[in-house]
Amino acid sequence: MDRYQQRRDRLRKLLRKAEIDSLLVTNFTNVTYLTGFTGDDSYLFISPDREVILSDPRYTTQLGEECPGIELAIRDTGKSMLDTIESIVKGRKSALIGIEGQSMTVGLRDRIAAALPKSDLKPTDGLVERLRLVKDKEEVDVIRRAVHAAERAFEVLRATIRPDLTEKQVADDLEHQMRLLGAKGASFPPIVAVGARAALPHARPTGARLGESPLLLIDWGADLGGYKSDLTRVLATGKISPKLERVYRVVLMAQEQGIAAVRPGATAHEVDAAARTVIEKAGFGKFFGHGLGHGLGLDIHEAPRLGVNQSLVLEPGMVVTIEPGIYLPDVGGVRIEDDVLVTKTGHEVLTSTAKSWETAAVAW
Ligand code: ZN
Ligand code: ZN
Repeated sequence: MDRYQQRRDRLRKLLRKAEIDSLLVTNFTNVTYLTGFTGDDSYLFISPDREVILSDPRYTTQLGEECPGIELAIRDTGKSMLDTIESIVKGRKSALIGIEGQSMTVGLRDRIAAALPKSDLKPTDGLVERLRLVKDKEEVDVIRRAVHAAERAFEVLRATIRPDLTEKQVADDLEHQMRLLGAKGASFPPIVAVGARAALPHARPTGARLGESPLLLIDWGADLGGYKSDLTRVLATGKISPKLERVYRVVLMAQEQGIAAVRPGATAHEVDAAARTVIEKAGFGKFFGHGLGHGLGLDIHEAPRLGVNQSLVLEPGMVVTIEPGIYLPDVGGVRIEDDVLVTKTGHEVLTSTAKSWETAAVAW
């Protein structure tokens, strides 16, 4: 049985537990996960005895290639995708249909309700996302390749950066290198932040030149084979103040403690606390204003969240980022981020780009 069929059968089990027998999957990433279809704009209807992809004529050929054996409902040109849904659910015994509450606008819900006047829609909460939490070996292998492309691109960047390059140029160069290495592109717009701008956790690259400050933060990743990687490194391109050097060392220690806490059975908040305690004890607690990390997979941010109030228990096969940071307003920020796989016995760090204080120094 193919892996997508297995996933759909596991979803059916979750649906039975939730006491609904069918689900209209409207989150395109979830459709990809359940069917292997890599296009957009398509829904999946799944019930005990049917699996139907609702799509449009642009995708007929691609669907035939990527999802052999799944029934297709291709809408006619000029009709909406939901025009076909009523004919699919017609004749079913149960009037109850699950919808994906988390990934739906109120507008879409209303349109589905209008297309299915005889059905009761029941919002569900992250059912497919629950399956996506634990990656199989093939998924982990693709994530490894996405990590590799990102890390190779960073090596090229390190070997070629110059003081006159702008943040924007570096971001573009990184993305270009990742494409040359087989990525579809960056997994999110790279963050390249010089000096005090590194204190903004989501800084957008500007025309600022690297030579303007000795501190350079780069947060980047590749989108390869549908899966994402996500890393952050901070480089010292000149003489860094003793205060920022201390911040770097504290963040690195916190990150290492966070990684060490990753193992099956640990809760998401325990892993967060392992890193956060280090930063708090060093007196920088109020400058670490975000969670420790997030799940990584088909989406750049997915479950589980590692944070203060997160009770999820880690299991083998989950992939998370560990990315503590200290952000000193108007001075600068340091964040160090790696991608970590939960294994049966503990964890494996999938990323290997150097991060010691000594290796942060760039000579140009
Ligand atoms: Zn990142
Ligand atoms: Zn991240």
